[in-house]
Amino acid sequence: MTVSDRFADSVRYHFSNPPQDWTVRKLDTRRWAIVNSADDVISTHPTRTAAEQNRTAGPYVRIWTDRTAWYLGTSTDPRCRALTPEELRIIATVLIDLDHPDAPAACHRAWPDAEFCDLCDLPLRGPDRLCPRCDHCSTDGCTNPLDDGEGFDGYCGDCADRRDHLYTT
Ligand SMILES: [Zn+2]
Ligand SMILES: [Zn+2]
Repeated sequence: MTVSDRFADSVRYHFSNPPQDWTVRKLDTRRWAIVNSADDVISTHPTRTAAEQNRTAGPYVRIWTDRTAWYLGTSTDPRCRALTPEELRIIATVLIDLDHPDAPAACHRAWPDAEFCDLCDLPLRGPDRLCPRCDHCSTDGCTNPLDDGEGFDGYCGDCADRRDHLYTT
């Protein structure tokens, strides 16, 4: 596993396990754990009340929030090192993958010279003004993208075939 694979994994792990998904579990007598959705223990506490309190606020939530700010470039902590261009691209790619609301902002930071989709604000790979996800078939209810080169007149290959009779004279 390369260094950038490991970085991608930790970014994905971080954003896939936010505090709002943490739960409290009893491990033993006077031992309560905060557990994330990957089933990893965040911290342990002597009482359920202490665990519940730390689940919603406190140092562990703050660590998560600080790390989020670092990944998203909104950190004001001078101790945070600057992310490399490659790391910025990894973060943006993971956030697109997770359909994260901050994905567009991360993409603008990762690809400062790129063109962006007019609708969803994700980076474009071709000359079109819309990404394949937004530039989808004009048939009501059809969500096929128009990126396979099969369709015509704004319809995907399937729908264009079905509309074939409209085009013959
Ligand atoms: Zn789009
Ligand atoms: Zn269609």
